Amino acid sequence: MSAPRESFDAALDVAHERARAWLEGLDERVVRAKTDAGSVAAALGRELPDGPADPADVVRLLADAAEPGLVATPSGRFFGFVIGGTLPAALAADWLVSAWDQNAALRAASPAGTAVDDIAAAWLLDVLGLPADAGVGFVTGGTMANFAGLAAARDAVLARAGWNAAQRGLAGAPSVRVLVGAERHDSVDVALRYLGLGAPEPVAVDDQGRLRPDALAAALRSGPRGPVIVSLQAGNIHSGGFDPFTETIPMAHDAGAWVHVDGAFGLWAAASPRTRGLVEGAEAADSWATDAHKTLNVPYDSGIVVVRDPAALRSAMSYHGDYLLTDASYLEPYERVPETSRRARSVPVWAALRSLGRSGLAALVEGLCGHAAAFADGIRRDVAGAEVVNDVVFTQVCLAFADDARTREVGRRLMADGAVWMTGSRWRGREVLRISVSNWSTDHTDVARGIDALARAAG
Ligand SMILES: *Cc1c(COP(=O)(O)O)cnc(C)c1O
Repeated sequence: MSAPRESFDAALDVAHERARAWLEGLDERVVRAKTDAGSVAAALGRELPDGPADPADVVRLLADAAEPGLVATPSGRFFGFVIGGTLPAALAADWLVSAWDQNAALRAASPAGTAVDDIAAAWLLDVLGLPADAGVGFVTGGTMANFAGLAAARDAVLARAGWNAAQRGLAGAPSVRVLVGAERHDSVDVALRYLGLGAPEPVAVDDQGRLRPDALAAALRSGPRGPVIVSLQAGNIHSGGFDPFTETIPMAHDAGAWVHVDGAFGLWAAASPRTRGLVEGAEAADSWATDAHKTLNVPYDSGIVVVRDPAALRSAMSYHGDYLLTDASYLEPYERVPETSRRARSVPVWAALRSLGRSGLAALVEGLCGHAAAFADGIRRDVAGAEVVNDVVFTQVCLAFADDARTREVGRRLMADGAVWMTGSRWRGREVLRISVSNWSTDHTDVARGIDALARAAG
């Protein structure tokens, strides 16, 4: 084997070359994978080798074997699920994160890591319109952001009821009611399950999946008195709709509830004056969850939890170890998240925000919304028999055909065609095709190709 430095050089050169080839191919490649997982595994080889291999050869094997099984999720023609791409500065910064190999748990372990954390956290609070002194944790994604925010919520509402959950656990604790919109994201339910809170109580929603204030008022009035959490949503994955925060948050607070907001992709509406109205009032909540790997377009894994009272986040997430060399005057990164050791996840977030600036971020959000609106117009105009079934207020468009069988068939043909990717789903009792415009690089041509592909599939 060559000397350590040379092995890095050769392996990184291969990775760089293959990464560039991948990115350059995104414009023309079919979006779906060209092969299945079994073929990729066969090309990789299933046997663990007896001895070592050259690092550059390992990277070459990986890139060659994986390539046909990759989905072009970073392409501007990927509209499935709610998945962002990655901005150039964020991707390059993410490479540095791996090369630096900092443990961003502690200031003592990485002054640079925590400096970036602090700046990125302050910028996030600013652009998301959240309280400047809130606690911010860099977690793996929206699910863990919901988990961390709801953990702070659980402990705080139990503490107000005179119960110390950290000391006594949940057995024998006052029961915690959790009220959610009937169309909340299922990751809220799984977070509540991890937290020992069981299934939430669904509250009725309107035709766009937004929680109805009258139904919330009735639920708050009717149930048993005691600790309550209300979990609201900024951005419904089907309609893109936002719960009415200005009406619901004060009502929940009057009932003594902690209010959490799942804004995995929708909280970013705050970053543009044109969409800010959608999240009006959300800043009055107690905790918020969002993803940076969706609307902000940084690489996975990047979620963010924000808690108004940093002490509530710390007491839910942190632990003490004498070996940890903590600085008592400072809320260490590991005290705000479920993990201890972690990569410097805030670095790509910082790079994305630094490269966009305030106006670039606003333009990013406006661009996604503009393309979603253009999709809706184009579908109504050019796709025979298609109906846009949601009010297109943000980045999501749902369409359907005359009946479920036809919608499924068009979806199947669209995926076989490969020019774009849209996800099938069921919404309000009906099969739909869902278009999520979440990639910074999507442009008018991509939208036009999407409409053409739909027209072909429907023809
Ligand atoms: C994507 C999403 C989540 C879950 O986020 P992950 O990053 O996939 O864990 C939660 N809520 C909403 C509204 C989402 O769109």
